[in-house]
Amino acid sequence: MSTPKLFIPGPIDVSQATYAAMSRPMIGHRGSEFEALYASTQPVLQQLAGTSRPVFLSTSSAWGVMEAALRNLTQKKVLTLCNGAFSDKWLDVAKKCGKEAEKIQMEWGQAIDPEQVRAKLAEGGFDTVTFIHNETSTGVMSDVSAIAKVVKSFPDVLLIVDCVSSFSAVPLAMDELGIDVLLAGVQKAMALPPGLTIFAISPAALERAKASKDRGYYFDFLEFEKNAASNNTPSTPAISLIFGLQDMLQTIAAEGLENRFARHRSNNKMIHDWAARHNFQHFAPEGFRSVSLSCFHTPTDFDQSAFIKTLKTKHNFLINGGYGKIKGITFRISNMGNETTSTMQELIDAMDDVLG
Ligand SMILES: *Cc1c(COP(=O)(O)O)cnc(C)c1O
Repeated sequence: MSTPKLFIPGPIDVSQATYAAMSRPMIGHRGSEFEALYASTQPVLQQLAGTSRPVFLSTSSAWGVMEAALRNLTQKKVLTLCNGAFSDKWLDVAKKCGKEAEKIQMEWGQAIDPEQVRAKLAEGGFDTVTFIHNETSTGVMSDVSAIAKVVKSFPDVLLIVDCVSSFSAVPLAMDELGIDVLLAGVQKAMALPPGLTIFAISPAALERAKASKDRGYYFDFLEFEKNAASNNTPSTPAISLIFGLQDMLQTIAAEGLENRFARHRSNNKMIHDWAARHNFQHFAPEGFRSVSLSCFHTPTDFDQSAFIKTLKTKHNFLINGGYGKIKGITFRISNMGNETTSTMQELIDAMDDVLG
């Protein structure tokens, strides 16, 4: 059988149109053709991020920019907001970068509590906060507006937001909310192969970076800012991925952003309705459930690994059996990217068939 169609929460299924766009002949990156390619990505990326700032293209997975944000911005101490595998890891990464760091630890499955953030920041000493909008390991989407409002009430604290699995699935408002770094890898809702991360930084973040030593070179925000002014990148970018990105952004613009967001909501609801029929319980509390993926408790009498395996061998669909310390006791289904009512229905019919 061919490679299974991916309904895991990243990387996700990539369309033939994207692969075709990516197979265009190579161009040099220090020429007008590349500059036009780069420039063409900006308007829709800016709309998706909700910013008038340039959107940088980093040839790395998301962690490259997640680490870079700390190296460029944290001079005193970072507060990491932790409620799952990715957000928890940010604390370790901060320490590995030699940064002073403290965390707020929520139980996995809970959203970040803005009032705890306010109380912790009021203790003083912090200059940066890391926050994951959509914790992909647990399917929890925290309230980015509420968190941003709290962080903005501390004028010297910069807010770094990982939108890896929410970018292009829900509206984002970087400038309006005062987010200082907004970043997203393209292998989640953007439905591109992995290897590229898009990010934008606020003027305050740029000023902070100027005063930061040890920013390194590859992820130096100043280098990105300087090169973006001429529609370029500091080092040789993954040009094929940018061809794919350009094509995807045209597709997104043609569909319309509101339609895209609505499609993610309705595809997500199809999975919620399916789960309700089979009495699968959500891992995330109501009101904080991701719209790009769903995470469910594995019932005690349910052979989850057999379910996932049969779904793959019989129907060629791949879902995920949980991540990090909740591997096995949860399972996750992605609905992000190019999925439609009919592709979601095919998955649902296949899952129903396996459940019998
Ligand atoms: C997938 C994911 C990451 C990890 O990104 P890499 O591309 O593996 O570096 C980080 N944050 C979130 C929320 C994710 O879903």
